[in-house]
Amino acid sequence: MSSVPFRAGLAATVAATAVALTLGASAAHAAPEVVVREDGRQQQAIELARQVAEREQRLAALNRQADARDRALIGRQELLARYGYHGDPDAVRVVLPLASYDVSAGFGLTGPLWEAEHGGQDFSAGTGEPLVAVSDGVVTDVSYAGPYGLRTVLELPDGTEVWYCHQTDVTVVVGQEVGVADVIGSVGSTGNSTGPHLHLEVRPAGGSPVDPMDWLRDAGLAP
Ligand SMILES: [Zn+2]
Repeated sequence: MSSVPFRAGLAATVAATAVALTLGASAAHAAPEVVVREDGRQQQAIELARQVAEREQRLAALNRQADARDRALIGRQELLARYGYHGDPDAVRVVLPLASYDVSAGFGLTGPLWEAEHGGQDFSAGTGEPLVAVSDGVVTDVSYAGPYGLRTVLELPDGTEVWYCHQTDVTVVVGQEVGVADVIGSVGSTGNSTGPHLHLEVRPAGGSPVDPMDWLRDAGLAP
C-alpha cells in the first residue's frame, strides 16, 4: 500500500468503499425481502395445511352423518356383518376396525418408514372413513403422539390396549366407555404417514405389541 501513489490509493479506497456501500446496500435491501418472502411462503403453507385439515374434518363429519343415517336403517346383525362378524349379535366380542379397507404394511416389517420394527398393522382406507371400536372398552388416551399422529387408545376389559393411529379426527373423549362397533373417529394421515390409513396396534396388558391380524383371527374374524 505504501508504494501506491496517493491519488491512486485514494481512488482505490473510494472504489472499494463504493463497492462496499453497493454490496452493503443491496444486502441490506435483499436480506429482509428474502426473509419476508420465505416467511410469507411458510405462512401460506401453514394456511393451506389448515384449510386441508379443515376440509378433511368436514368430509369426515359428512361421512359420519351418512354412516349414522345408514346405521339407523340397518339391523344390528347387518351392521356387525359389515365389520366382519357374522354370528349371534348378542354374543359379539370383537369386530374389524373398518368396514372396507386394503391390507397394507404388516406387523414386524422393518424399513425406512419405521424407527424400529413396524409395531402394528396398516389398513388403507379413504380419509374420513369411520373407525369403530373393535371391542367394548374405555378410551384411555386421545392425543397427538408424534409419528403416530392423532391417536386414540382403547383399553379392553382384559387390559389389552388397542391403538388407532393417524386419525383425521376423534369422536370420543378420555374416560368414555364405548361399545363394540361404535364409531370412535375417522381415518386420516396425521403423523408419520404417506397416505390415509389406519395403523392399528394391539398391546396385551398394555405391553409389547402383537400382530393385530393374529389377534383378530384368534377372535374368529377373517381380516
Ligand atoms: Zn403402520
